[in-house]
Amino acid sequence: MSRFLNSTLARLTPYTPGEQPQGGGFVKLNTNESPFPPSEGVLNAISRAEVEKLNLYSDPTLNPVVSALAKRFGVENKNVYAGNGSDEVLAIAMYAFGEKGFSYPDITYGFYSVIADFFGIDCVRPKLKSDFTIDISDYMGNDRAVIIANPNAPTGIFLPLSEIEKILIANPDQVVIVDEAYVEFGGESASVLLDKYENLLVVGTFSKAWNLAGARLGYAVGNEALIADLNRLRCSFHPYNINRLTLLSGQKAVEDEEYYIGCRQKIIATRARVQAELESLGFTLTPSKANFIFARPPKGDAERIYKALYEKKVLVRYFPSGRTKEYLRISIGSDAQMDKFLDAVKSIL
Ligand SMILES: *Cc1c(COP(=O)(O)O)cnc(C)c1O
Repeated sequence: MSRFLNSTLARLTPYTPGEQPQGGGFVKLNTNESPFPPSEGVLNAISRAEVEKLNLYSDPTLNPVVSALAKRFGVENKNVYAGNGSDEVLAIAMYAFGEKGFSYPDITYGFYSVIADFFGIDCVRPKLKSDFTIDISDYMGNDRAVIIANPNAPTGIFLPLSEIEKILIANPDQVVIVDEAYVEFGGESASVLLDKYENLLVVGTFSKAWNLAGARLGYAVGNEALIADLNRLRCSFHPYNINRLTLLSGQKAVEDEEYYIGCRQKIIATRARVQAELESLGFTLTPSKANFIFARPPKGDAERIYKALYEKKVLVRYFPSGRTKEYLRISIGSDAQMDKFLDAVKSIL
């Protein structure tokens, strides 16, 4: 750290992303990426002719992606926002709507707290119940904004929309952000509630269910005024926040959703198979609706198994503190990858 860094920022603890090993040979099940490539429409769109246009700035209205998503969600362009990954969307939204602070579960996506510290946002973190479900009474009559990852990470547990609706009703003067990074793997999007609640902001990403983690593309859907607020911040910070190739990739991906639905169905089927196999090996699982499994090994010795898997070049995610320390988070890859994972687990046990 240099002696020039702002002393408040010097106290930040950056987010630790899952490892991206550069050497080959790993079965990579640690960052919830898709094992499948982008659709043909995306692959064909990134042509030499498009690359040649990189001398020009990208569209500051983000129109290619915004229009495609508006159509998909059955809303208007003014109801859609897009960002350089949903991490950027979440950061802008927390900064925009977090004046009175935020409330979110003690066990959830780790980036929320990193963003909150960055912007000096005060947070309370009600505890999940012992089965890792959300106790919605913790969010009744809050005097602060709320953020719920649904399905939650790293548990994969989906909170029914009827419960989300109760949180929205109980907090009419606060924004409720529903982070739907994994909703396409068996959950139900809160976007169907947008007409009823002006305080609802639904956030999504192209990184998981759209096979585009490396393109960096996220979005938010909400009422016109909320989206205008987000654009006000974006255009005060980074108006060309999404590059040309990513805008095009996102548009083409949405147009090719059939292909992605097929990929998601494969993940869901593989998830069921791996869940059954792990259960028969004595693992305890949460009922995941995401593209990962949250699993406690028979003896709770998750750290040992994490390390032994690493030795065998199988990479999963381990969160070593608190109530997650007896669990592993295992992304669902291809069937071939999961077979290697299961073989490795059996030999370790
Ligand atoms: C992966 C993930 C994101 C971030 O996705 P990007 O769009 O890649 O920035 C956001 N929220 C949750 C809960 C996630 O798991």
